[in-house]
Amino acid sequence: MAIPKETIDIVRDRAQIQEIIKKYVPTLQKKGRNYIGLCPFHKEKTPSFNVSAEKQTFYCFGCHTGGNVFTFISKIERLSFPESVVFLGNMLGIEVRDEKGGIHDDKLDIRKKVNLAAMSFYRNMINSPRGAGASSYLRERGIEDASIKDFMIGYAPDEWGALTGYFRKTGMNFDIALELGLLSSSAKSGSTHYYDRFRDRVIFPIFNRNNEVIAFGGRVMGGGEPKYLNSPESELFRKRNVLYGLNKAREHIVSLGRAIVVEGYLDVIGCHQAGIKNVVAPLGTALTEVQVRLLARFCREIILLFDADSAGINASLRSLDVVKDVSVDARVAVLPEDDPFDFIRKRGVREFMAIVDSALKPVDFRLERVLAESVGRDRLEVLRGLFAIVAEIEYESEKSHYLKKISTLLKIGENEIRSDFKRFIGKDGLRFNTPATTSDPGGNQGKIQFLVRAHREMVELLCRYPELIEKAIIDFAENAIEDPDAAAVFGKMAELFSAGERISVDRLFDFFPDGSGKIFLENCLARDYRIENPAAAYTEIYINIRLYMIERGIERYKEKIRKAQAGGNADTNANLTELEIEIEILTREWEKLSSYKYNIQTV
Ligand SMILES: [Zn+2]
Repeated sequence: MAIPKETIDIVRDRAQIQEIIKKYVPTLQKKGRNYIGLCPFHKEKTPSFNVSAEKQTFYCFGCHTGGNVFTFISKIERLSFPESVVFLGNMLGIEVRDEKGGIHDDKLDIRKKVNLAAMSFYRNMINSPRGAGASSYLRERGIEDASIKDFMIGYAPDEWGALTGYFRKTGMNFDIALELGLLSSSAKSGSTHYYDRFRDRVIFPIFNRNNEVIAFGGRVMGGGEPKYLNSPESELFRKRNVLYGLNKAREHIVSLGRAIVVEGYLDVIGCHQAGIKNVVAPLGTALTEVQVRLLARFCREIILLFDADSAGINASLRSLDVVKDVSVDARVAVLPEDDPFDFIRKRGVREFMAIVDSALKPVDFRLERVLAESVGRDRLEVLRGLFAIVAEIEYESEKSHYLKKISTLLKIGENEIRSDFKRFIGKDGLRFNTPATTSDPGGNQGKIQFLVRAHREMVELLCRYPELIEKAIIDFAENAIEDPDAAAVFGKMAELFSAGERISVDRLFDFFPDGSGKIFLENCLARDYRIENPAAAYTEIYINIRLYMIERGIERYKEKIRKAQAGGNADTNANLTELEIEIEILTREWEKLSSYKYNIQTV
């Protein structure tokens, strides 16, 4: 359904967010600039739910939910964005029609309907004689009947036309069923032939946070391949943005302040079955930053729990990079044997929780990995491995703490460790405080991380002070922004600006009703403090980015010089002079910018 922008704006302008929310949050009271009350989205005794009349937004510092008036209605009334516009319109006596004139017809809703029909079909199958094999397979694996019901687990029969027949009978849209990966098709003598995509598999429906089925994971019961067949990505389902079990785990994560991330569907189910309910899993991939940010909205602590095998350990090391940039307390643990499901079955909840509670901070975990693999290795090599980890730590006091620890662990004097560490840093050239460049000549990983952070910071500032966009669209191109969410929000702001429309963070929520874009905007609301001089803050970020790019440029030219010198061909000298001039130019710009930077008054 497409509601004209003008109508949305009429509804928004008429609705005073503090008035609307007061209907749902009777405790809401004015305090200073804002209204504060008890959050309707999580249990709390002291109010952390804030409404800003000035910005027309709300934000909860407890569960990190936030948005504009439509977001609030869609969340509390469990409506889609267009539905919440209609709902609010009704509340205020404004008639809302879509551009075609109809009141409500959303393609997204049809997709949800088709998925829902498929889920109920699969669930009927597992309870029928055709699904007897599947349910006894699940029971043998240790999954209780209550969990089968709870997680809506189903069965796709070993037939080509079971779901197809059901869809034909119930008049489901076949094109959408194809797009959702429920059916497949082949062209036969001029006509299209449809058939079931999931066959003889146990089906795990995947839900979004609002408890809507958005995809399915189908697992073979014997030795077939692939072991898991998932729904393809669609407008409804972005694998990287979804966590299995979050619909059930969410309230437990909020009340315990902690989320446990395991590797697979069965592990989530096994934990819930054992009464550990703050557990989720990514969907067959390594944890993504979007998923971490999603969890960080509900809790302060994330435990990454990995299987005993080495694939699990490698996955955990990759995940550590992902949690690094999110302000959340992440810790890591590896099970001594099995996966969580089998571990709990064999050793019980108490032992399982002991491992969860002994999870290590990322730095400790990585140091321990290096030490665990040190047997039979050259001592210097081990030391270098440990130093590389310490070198990445941001704070000096923390670095110092870990150097002391290394000295104790290796039984080497603290002074010797410290002076060796100094030499190590000098040698590997950590001038710009980014990861060592020897193994990664362009410093690519470090570059991406720095830029992602800086670009996010810049766009967050723009969201809070939209008047800066005028400057920013000259300084930055949308496709040069490293972070996809920041780039999308930036692009939207630029578009609104050039159309001469009003920009505000409240309005931006209209264009990002869910997914990682919404999370990005919510994070902007989390920073409620005022910046005295936003223009100066912007300039500082801009200069930092420029300085960084210049430093990278200089490094690249130096690398070229090194290569040219090593190669030693005839026109080397001319080239060298040119390269040196380039470096000279960049160095001057660097000096100019960095002296300028220290003259900006940010406060
Ligand atoms: Zn809350």
